[in-house]
Amino acid sequence: MRADRGGSGRVLRFAPLLAMLTLAGRARAHQEPPPAHPVDDDITRTSVVQGTDVLREWRGGVMGTSFQIEAIGKDAAEIDRVIGLALDELRRVEDVFTVWRESELTRLNARAGQGAVPVSSEMALLLGISVECGRVTNGAFDVTYFPLRPLWNYKAEHPTLPSEEQIQAALKFVDYRRIVVDRQNSTVELPSGFSIDLGGIAKGYGVDRAMDILLAQGIHNGLVQAGGDTKALGRKFDKPWQIAIKNPRHSDEVFAVLPVVNQCVQTSGDYERFFEIDGQRYHHIIDPRTGRPSAGCMSATVIGPEATFDDGIATAMCVLGPEAGMAIIEQLDRVEAVLVGMDGRVHLSSGLQKAGLPSEVR
Ligand code: ADP
Ligand code: MG
Repeated sequence: MRADRGGSGRVLRFAPLLAMLTLAGRARAHQEPPPAHPVDDDITRTSVVQGTDVLREWRGGVMGTSFQIEAIGKDAAEIDRVIGLALDELRRVEDVFTVWRESELTRLNARAGQGAVPVSSEMALLLGISVECGRVTNGAFDVTYFPLRPLWNYKAEHPTLPSEEQIQAALKFVDYRRIVVDRQNSTVELPSGFSIDLGGIAKGYGVDRAMDILLAQGIHNGLVQAGGDTKALGRKFDKPWQIAIKNPRHSDEVFAVLPVVNQCVQTSGDYERFFEIDGQRYHHIIDPRTGRPSAGCMSATVIGPEATFDDGIATAMCVLGPEAGMAIIEQLDRVEAVLVGMDGRVHLSSGLQKAGLPSEVR
C-alpha cells in the first residue's frame, strides 16, 4: 500500500454512527429515473469548525443517487460558493451522459449505424476510457450491454424473467470492440442496433471533474462522493478521510473503513438495485458473456488515483469475481481492491494485506 493512503487500515465493525462516515455505497432512495435536477432545498448543509478552519459539507441527490461534497477552508461563504460550482459540474456531467432523458448520449445512440458521428471531446474521452476499461477487463466492462438492460428491469412493478431467445437476440448487439472512437476528430461510430449506457462509469467521471473544480478554486482538502464513487483530496483536518464500505448483505452496516488521503474509492455491488423472484436475486450489473446478472462478487471496492477508470473496473470486478478480478487488479499500477465473493469471503490485493480488514462478511 502506498504511504499516502494514510497508514494501516482501521476496521470498525458495525460502526454505530454511520452518519458520521462517508459511505462508499449508494443510497437506497432514488430508484426512479431522476428528475432533471432536484431543487436546492433538498440539499443539507452543515459545518464543522476546528481552530480557524471550517469544513462545509453538502448532501443531496444527483445522477439518480446521493451525493456528498466536503471542503475545508477559512470562509464558509467562499467554500459554499466553490461547493456550488462542484455540484453544478456533477449536474452538467449528468446532463451529458444520462440515458433517462434526452442527452448527448441518447442522440449518439439514436445515430447508430449512420457512420462516424461528431461528438463533444468529452464524449470521445469518456467512451475512449470505457473501451479501454473493456479491454483491460477482457470485456467484463462493456458499455454496449445496454440492449440487455430492459430484460432485467429492476424498476418494473412486476418484474419477469426473459427467455433465452430474448437474451441471445440482445447479445448480438453487445461488443465494446465495435465502438469506433476517434479522439483526434471527436467522432464516434456505433454499428446499427448498438447502444451505450455509461451508468457504470459516468459517476466516477463526474467525481473526477467535480474534484477538478474544487482544486481549481483553491481547495486543498476536500471530498466528492456520488453514489459509491468517492475522491478524497488531502486530509480531514489532521486525519485521513474515512471511507466506509457497506456490508453487502446488511447495507445499513459497515464492514470496513479505509483511511484515505489523495485517493479514490469506488464500490459496486449487487445489493442496492435488484429484484427477486423465488428467492433468487437479479441485480443491475450484467455479465456481457451470459447476458445475465453477474455472479462474481457481492461487493467490489477499488482504490486508485482516478475515479473514472476505477469506477469501470469496480463494476467489472462484480462480473469477474475475486480470482479473475484480482489477477487484473494486481497488474494495474497503483490500484488496490477489496472484493467480497459470493460466499462472503473477503479478498484483498497485495497492497492491502496488512490493512487489518476482516476476512469475511456475514
Ligand atoms: P451504480 O452506482 O449505479 O450501482 P456501478 O458503477 O456499480 O454503478 O455500475 C452499475 C451500472 O453499470 C448499471 O446500473 C448499468 O448502468 C451499468 N452496467 C451494468 N452492467 C455493466 C457491464 N457489464 N459493463 C458496463 N456497465 C454495466
Ligand atoms: Mg462502476
